[in-house]
Amino acid sequence: MQAPLVDGFGRVHTDLRLSLTDRCNLRCTYCMPAEGLDWLPKPELLTDDEMVRLVGILAAMGVRTVRLTGGEPLLRPGLPGLVERLAALDVALSLTTNGLGLARQAQALRDAGLRRVNVSLDSLMPERFTALTRRDRLHDVLAGLAAAKAAGLEPVKVNAVLMRGVNDDEASDLLQWALDEGYALRFIEQMPLDPQHGWNRDTMLDADEILARLGERWTLTPVPSRGSAPAEEFYVDGGPATVGVVGSVSRPFCSACDRLRLTADGQVRNCLFAREESDLRAPLRAGACDEELADRLRVAVAGKKKGHGIGEPGFVQPDRPMSAIGG
Ligand code: SAM
Ligand code: SF4
Repeated sequence: MQAPLVDGFGRVHTDLRLSLTDRCNLRCTYCMPAEGLDWLPKPELLTDDEMVRLVGILAAMGVRTVRLTGGEPLLRPGLPGLVERLAALDVALSLTTNGLGLARQAQALRDAGLRRVNVSLDSLMPERFTALTRRDRLHDVLAGLAAAKAAGLEPVKVNAVLMRGVNDDEASDLLQWALDEGYALRFIEQMPLDPQHGWNRDTMLDADEILARLGERWTLTPVPSRGSAPAEEFYVDGGPATVGVVGSVSRPFCSACDRLRLTADGQVRNCLFAREESDLRAPLRAGACDEELADRLRVAVAGKKKGHGIGEPGFVQPDRPMSAIGG
């Protein structure tokens, strides 16, 4: 076992967000422009071998959980094979996806060692879903969710972002639907990570407002022991069902953050909102040994800032949008 990944504030890093691609087959209005973005050229993407090697080094440094994300991670060719190799590294693997194609892949991913999945879904209204994602694919997302449940990828979690005047009237309907279907719903505050740099705090529904809306229909009681998890969980009408709220902006959880990120092109980021990245791909391809790569990872984590600083004077949104960092 290598020395753990600790930053200057004593936070030990055990959780990795690994982006498998920056491409996507939806165009959620808050995440991507209609025409998409300038995708990374294929030679710049880490290969499966490179990803497996880096995750192996990270696992030896104490990383225990790895969430595969993107862009849309299900677009990565040969995903079950990669999942099988990563699962063999003794890390718990989960996946964040828009659900398209999950109906086809859920069982193979489960068989390969995937443990859990989070599916993003912001509206249950077909026309609104189409307007929000610029694709008429609600049916595929719902089929993907059902397939995930049938494959035993439990608990199946659903992530929803609420925006004022767009889908904020659906908070309670989304929760009722999730309760009926047996999915664990989490609302996530919208963050300033869009490529258009159009985020506006007034459009975002914050945790207080989300909880107030849900509170009109249900009694919510906090679930104790949050640990380093970003979501605050609440029992719905006494439980056992719960609902989560991720108040990244209004209730930051930076002091307990145990997370680092690796982009699809091999850049380490110690925070979603970091302005700097550390390149691992160049040394990796130049023949660096594991110890050298581990040192670079240690330095990258050591330089992590105390908090994301949203709302503070001087806050500047990172250059990469969420989809290219790995949300
Ligand atoms: N394509 C996959 C998906 O949609 O689940 C994985 C990547 S996506 C960037 C991961 C999550 O980030 C999604 O739940 C999406 O709603 C969320 N997201 C994207 N932009 C966001 C923003 N500006 N603020 C908060 N969440 C955002
Ligand atoms: Fe694609 Fe996910 Fe971004 Fe939507 S939120 S455009 S599904 S990366």
